[in-house]
Amino acid sequence: MSFTLPQLAFAYNALEPHIDERTMEIHHSKHHQAYITNLNNALAGTPAENLSIEEICTNISQYAMVVRNNGGGHFNHSLFWSILGAEGGTPSPELAAAIETDLGGMEKFKEEFGKAGITRFGSGWAWLCVKEGQLIICSTANQDNPLMDIEGVRCGNPILALDVWEHAYYLNYQNRRPDYVAAFWNVINWNEVNRRYAASL
Ligand code: MN
Repeated sequence: MSFTLPQLAFAYNALEPHIDERTMEIHHSKHHQAYITNLNNALAGTPAENLSIEEICTNISQYAMVVRNNGGGHFNHSLFWSILGAEGGTPSPELAAAIETDLGGMEKFKEEFGKAGITRFGSGWAWLCVKEGQLIICSTANQDNPLMDIEGVRCGNPILALDVWEHAYYLNYQNRRPDYVAAFWNVINWNEVNRRYAASL
């Protein structure tokens, strides 16, 4: 068995003007596909080739760096596509209550999550995670993610992700990462975030 590129639940142009069609097409069909191809090549003929990507990430310390980079790339982008959408929605009452209790409310959450993305030096990701029932904001470098069993990286079960690699925004926003991070709030598929939150408890 090998990993395959997940289909998007929306058209490449569905997130415009916040995320443009060309960026989405290249990001999904080229960047994500490259992580999958490299991951499949790295795992071919090894005992890990029948594991799920979550199983691989949670034991990533046992793997070579090529698996960490490309396996992370596959997991992260798969999650990212699932929490994007044009329909929006809102946080469920349960998630909204947790944002209030754990993160100091929606405005504070947006500010802290945005800061996690904007201040991540170089390439990486901002995350909203559930750890022992609590919401936590964190960020990771490169294609690391909060599932990985690495000190300083593992921080919980991710339910929301933002890719802050330049390839995610450069065509439309050039160097203006903060503008891209601000636009992200317009294209979140909250139904999927709500589902992931409920499943994490
Ligand atoms: Mn990316």
